[in-house]
Amino acid sequence: MGSMTHKKILIVEDERDILHLVKHYLEKEGFRTVVAMTGLEALKKVTEDKPDLVVLDLMLPEMDGLEVCKRLRSAPDTAMLPIIMLTAKAEESDTIVGLELGADDYVTKPFSPKTLVARLKALLRRVERTPETAPNLYRYNALTMNLSRHEVSLGKQEVTLTAKEFGLLEYLLRHRGRVLTREVLLNAVWGYDYYGTTRTVDVHIRRVKQKLPLLEEAIVAVKSLGYKLKDVDEPE
Ligand code: CA
Repeated sequence: MGSMTHKKILIVEDERDILHLVKHYLEKEGFRTVVAMTGLEALKKVTEDKPDLVVLDLMLPEMDGLEVCKRLRSAPDTAMLPIIMLTAKAEESDTIVGLELGADDYVTKPFSPKTLVARLKALLRRVERTPETAPNLYRYNALTMNLSRHEVSLGKQEVTLTAKEFGLLEYLLRHRGRVLTREVLLNAVWGYDYYGTTRTVDVHIRRVKQKLPLLEEAIVAVKSLGYKLKDVDEPE
């Protein structure tokens, strides 16, 4: 994992103490760091410094972490940028926090720097493990997808998917654990010259779930953004 320690992390936090604590721990672990104290500054730093991952506080002046996250997810260059959201306990009232905000993961305040570093490394591993091109075979619990034979099966039962459903499932499996916007999925599966709407993605996700019930809970909708196939070993 030698490459991981050279990764550049953007820390966005308006509370100086937390900012310095996180920065200190990440640097101690060998990461390079860039910092921002407002949402607008965060967007600027993403463009200028091209970080490999963003640690993003939810409550920020000018523009909150949710808006920053949405803007990053909706720009093609940053749609796949790994984001860990820092949320406060008080905001944790329902499951809206974190994943539904479009972040790849979230850590609740107060947190131990050790926990944050562990989650950050886990996310970087998920990203690094994503193959550039599709491998020949995917396994996801009882699901097997064989690309060379163009077959999907649940246990020993073969499941028939249309070409688009197959392409969608392949992309979700390859990028498991990542938030994928409808635009990203549309471009990946239907192509840039496709003139349909992003509703197409919703319809196909629904069909894939109907055919493969084990994915009903595993593919989560990310509010107003898109979808994510939970990693098998991902914490709840
Ligand atoms: Ca804050």
